[in-house]
Amino acid sequence: MTDRRRFLKASVLGMSSPILAWAGKLTATTSARMPATSTARVVSTWDFGVAANQAAWAILGKGGHALDAVEAGARVPESDLKNHSVGKGGYPDRDGHVTLDASIMDADGSCGAVAAIEHIEHPISVARLVMERTPHVLLVGEGALQFALEQGFKQQNLLTPDAEKAWHEWQKTAHYQPSINSEVRDYGNPGRPGGANNHDTIGMLAIDAHGRMSGACTTSGMAWKMRGRVGDSPIIGAGLYVDGEVGGATSTGVGEEVIRNAGSFLVVELMRQGRSPHEACKEAVMRIVNKRREASKTIQVGFLAMNRAGEVGAYAIQHGFSYAVCDAKKQDALIPSQSVYTTSYS
Ligand code: ASP
Repeated sequence: MTDRRRFLKASVLGMSSPILAWAGKLTATTSARMPATSTARVVSTWDFGVAANQAAWAILGKGGHALDAVEAGARVPESDLKNHSVGKGGYPDRDGHVTLDASIMDADGSCGAVAAIEHIEHPISVARLVMERTPHVLLVGEGALQFALEQGFKQQNLLTPDAEKAWHEWQKTAHYQPSINSEVRDYGNPGRPGGANNHDTIGMLAIDAHGRMSGACTTSGMAWKMRGRVGDSPIIGAGLYVDGEVGGATSTGVGEEVIRNAGSFLVVELMRQGRSPHEACKEAVMRIVNKRREASKTIQVGFLAMNRAGEVGAYAIQHGFSYAVCDAKKQDALIPSQSVYTTSYS
């Protein structure tokens, strides 16, 4: 049984667990007036969020800061060479360059990001230093690399043999087509053009035992993208947004659609107006779908949100999006998101 199936099974078996109760919660309360929870919790996009959550929990479970937790969690898929959509081992752009995007945000609006950075395994940690040690929010390309090197990060080759092989395979058709079905994630099967999953992001949101919320988001973006393309993940308000008074949101999927709709900011503002995390994510997805009904049938976008009370919700365009939840009661829950379309088109 694959890890993914095992986690899905675990989450289905836990149907009566509080985790699914939050996931299904549709109460329309005014999130901004909700008291902050003192129960630590971390949520992440996709099946690889399970391992990321565990690294975050090692900090949260000891009373650590949410910001440290999301950074530690995001570093896990960044180092996973089997993960071809985040960090080292990520699929390159159409010219063979692995370029990474990442952002991090704290409850008080502090934030930092890097876009199209090359040769650095942990862009999330560089993003954190942009936030903490520069007067800026976003550094890109060469400048981001220069900053990382100045801060002591090691320059390395991020293009693994597997990813290079997949790139050469893709070059046979050189057809740019973001995949839409995570069921065919190509762990162990790189280079399957067309059917293989060729993008996905880890977006994480954590609340610590003191009620502080932080978020992180990191990705290698869309495989075979144009050189210089930047997605939603490093754009504050698109791929990630956190407001300590309300909650946070993060996204995965075709970043262009998320940027067009200021997706994560929209989800947080909808929660501020009283929507539950689930309702807010659904409305943000429907904005995308309603503006581009035909195009939306062949793309994936998913949002994940948590309000300051610790309620969690998600919604996606396509079937197949999942999110991982971890707290003191459950460490490895993987929950399938609801979606607009129940069967994938791929
Ligand atoms: N949102 C990412 C990007 O557009 C990719 C993904 O999450 O699927 O770069």
